[in-house]
Amino acid sequence: MKVALISYEVYPFAKVGGLADVVGALPKYLEKHGTKPIIFMPKHRVVEKGAEKFGYTLKKIKEGLNVPFLKTDEKFDIYETKLPKSNVPVYLISNDYYFSAEKVYDGPDLAEQAIYFSAAVLEAIKNLKLKFDIFHVNDWQTALIPVYLKSLYKEVPEFFKAAVVLTIHNLGYQGIFDQKYLEFAGLPEYLYNIDGIEFYGKINFLKGGILFSDVINTVSPTYSQEIQTKEYGEKLDGVLRLRAADLYGILNGIDYEEYNPATDDRIYVNYSIDDIEKKYENKKKLQEEMGLPVKDVPVIGMINRLVDQKGLDILADIFRYITLFNVQFVLLGTGDEKYEKLFEDIAKEFPEKVSANIKFDVTLAQKIYAASDMFLMPSRYEPCGLGQMYSLRYGTIPVVRYTGGLADTVMEYDESTMKGNGFGFKEYDSAHLLRAIARSVDIYFNKKQHWRKLIKNAMTTDLSWERSAKEYIKLYTRAKNKIV
Ligand code: ADP
Repeated sequence: MKVALISYEVYPFAKVGGLADVVGALPKYLEKHGTKPIIFMPKHRVVEKGAEKFGYTLKKIKEGLNVPFLKTDEKFDIYETKLPKSNVPVYLISNDYYFSAEKVYDGPDLAEQAIYFSAAVLEAIKNLKLKFDIFHVNDWQTALIPVYLKSLYKEVPEFFKAAVVLTIHNLGYQGIFDQKYLEFAGLPEYLYNIDGIEFYGKINFLKGGILFSDVINTVSPTYSQEIQTKEYGEKLDGVLRLRAADLYGILNGIDYEEYNPATDDRIYVNYSIDDIEKKYENKKKLQEEMGLPVKDVPVIGMINRLVDQKGLDILADIFRYITLFNVQFVLLGTGDEKYEKLFEDIAKEFPEKVSANIKFDVTLAQKIYAASDMFLMPSRYEPCGLGQMYSLRYGTIPVVRYTGGLADTVMEYDESTMKGNGFGFKEYDSAHLLRAIARSVDIYFNKKQHWRKLIKNAMTTDLSWERSAKEYIKLYTRAKNKIV
């Protein structure tokens, strides 16, 4: 099966969020299981900067191509490279006007940039005489590709039998723009319609993707259900319900090599499931580094963007109660000023119990994953979530709100069966959050054999890309079967 994986971000070339991690990792595993993936992405300015660090080279293979139906004369070149540590080819669409901003989402006009990239990929595929069974597009930036394939490219033989899969990494971003872009995109006017890509007097790229793809998935099964409700649907719940029969959820994996407590050189002391005692060495060192008293109390870690989505409002309500427990709290995050200030103030008030690190620091993040006993993630919504997966891998017990990917990766610990790998709550309110934390603290102090079992269960949870890749291959087959 030949798969074109099309994304605006791909790690390590250009990364803003989780989208880049997924498209940077998944193809390596698809390749292992007999699929032939090829990646397409824009040649953002940052792509050149990473070449030295990640050891890839960029080779120009085509020059001066144009997209005839767009309202622009801009021409593009195609560069070729390989995804590091793999044989996966990567084709980069290069255009100085659209993709030369310092940051990936800066530039002259985001809507035009996304349209230009999407259309140029299709022209590049024609030009390179490539043939694919599957077009796998990601998020709103590439969601017009299915619209193109089912309209302007309907009669183009190279694309006849290709099925389209759309992955929604976060429904919060949809690409909503003025109607005028329809003309720029060269798309037929009939699409400006409630059954097309019209959306409250504007156009919505993601809506187009949802309507015109053969199969759609989100990055966790629970999130794929939640977004069909008014509460989580971001005004697209109706459209998503229309496509319910073709809507799936596949959890992301994590990179087992990079996130491995036995080899991770960013943490203080390496450890594995067979020598958990060494995990506590990490705790002592972290307490020291954070200026907290070095003692045997549970350390609760939290690493997050400090925004409402992450459940900081319900945490703020009860934070003072948490300081009444015999615990320490280590926070790492940046975001809304009100939350940054809140944590800084509390850390000043309770220097023996709370350490607030308001910065972005990947090394400190790893130290916290390794050294903490619990990891807090009370999100309001969470398409997949990485934090809880990293913490499980490092034997740090997640305390979460059961929503989206958190509900699919964390299972409430049951003392009678000794199954489960964490703690959580369903109702989005502070009382339930406090109760979940209290339960974890109680087991930590009073039921040591259960705590050890929790750590074992956490560290053996399957969060591998192998599992996800196999599910994506099934999804591709489903999409293909819809075409023939
Ligand atoms: P989201 O994509 O919504 O931000 P995820 O849990 O999927 O949430 O991914 C967030 C990732 O970013 C995690 O790996 C987390 O460790 C990391 N992260 C968030 N804030 C920081 C920070 N201040 N410093 C270092 N890493 C951070």
